Amino acid sequence: MKRIAILGSTGSIGQQTLDVIARNPDLFSVELLTANNNVDILIGQAKRFQPNVVIISNEEKYPLVREALADYPIKVYAGHSAIAQSMSMASIDTVVTAMVGFSGLIPTIQAIKAGKQICLANKETLVVAGDLITRLSLENRVEILPIDSEHSAIFQCLTGEDEASVEKIILTCSGGPFHGKSREELAGVTVREALKHPNWDMGAKITIDSATLMNKGFEIIEAKWLFGLQPSQIEVVVHPQSIIHSMVQFCDGSIKAQLGIPDMRMPIQFALAYPIRIKNELPRFRFSEFGTFTFTAPDTKNFRNLALSYEALYKGGNLACVLNAANEITVKAFLEGQISFLDMPAINEKVMESVGFIASPDLEDYLESDREARLLANEIIREKK
Ligand code: MG
Repeated sequence: MKRIAILGSTGSIGQQTLDVIARNPDLFSVELLTANNNVDILIGQAKRFQPNVVIISNEEKYPLVREALADYPIKVYAGHSAIAQSMSMASIDTVVTAMVGFSGLIPTIQAIKAGKQICLANKETLVVAGDLITRLSLENRVEILPIDSEHSAIFQCLTGEDEASVEKIILTCSGGPFHGKSREELAGVTVREALKHPNWDMGAKITIDSATLMNKGFEIIEAKWLFGLQPSQIEVVVHPQSIIHSMVQFCDGSIKAQLGIPDMRMPIQFALAYPIRIKNELPRFRFSEFGTFTFTAPDTKNFRNLALSYEALYKGGNLACVLNAANEITVKAFLEGQISFLDMPAINEKVMESVGFIASPDLEDYLESDREARLLANEIIREKK
């Protein structure tokens, strides 16, 4: 029995993780649940899964949660520091990091220091501070198992292979809802259109990131750290059907791919159950009913975020941290109707040019770069209005 902590249990990945756990009650139990604000869902989950501990980040909502769970043998805490502290609980085996954005960094560091196995869905942690996280996980002999579908695919393709024989990896990209659109068309894209992803059902932040190709940009950086690759070994190909989840090409020219229906419960289940595979009742992919797979190169001219990510990938330092921070602000502003679709990459780029470059940042430098980038992005957005 693996005892699981879910950081961000009320989001899309958190809820799907609980779905996988509910289907396998003899393999997994829930030890800890955390959420930012979504009290109703958190309380419902706590009553159903009976974790030992529940933590609500937003301290103002603490009384609500405590009261609702008063009759249950569940400890209730509040605040970010409570989340970070809880990571050393001896009763936790595996931590699923499913929170959104930069907020995942500190608790993930604490979980690694406490020697917990990490199932990583919060890709921003590796984008922001990949060198630090990789170093800590080596020092603490902690395994980081990817939940991101592309990285789960690569991880599965690499199983049983010598990593030195990898020539390159090929990350597939759905292209999002606006693949093939011109600059003029992209300029007028609405929030509602951007929130409609053709294949995957995900939270709002990652759906916008998918539409701008920021998500794919973050994934190339995530891949560099997870698999110890050189930037030149990481390629992206647009595959709108989202059936091939990614591929690895080896030194003999052979290519391995991992395929399946686009359902996040598959990579979540793989990471939770690793190193074994467990049976499930999810729908199966059938080649004979499908038709055609297509592939094209990504459009980095109109989808600048992917080009910015390659720049951050090659230059390293604090650049990806700055890009992530700027992007969190610009996505929020777009969702609130303050800026246009094309403003997002344009502002991200300006912020990357303006924040001072640090070649070998420590944790303090990352926190400071993050803060500075957010301030700057907010300033640019204010000036636009
Ligand atoms: Mg992905």
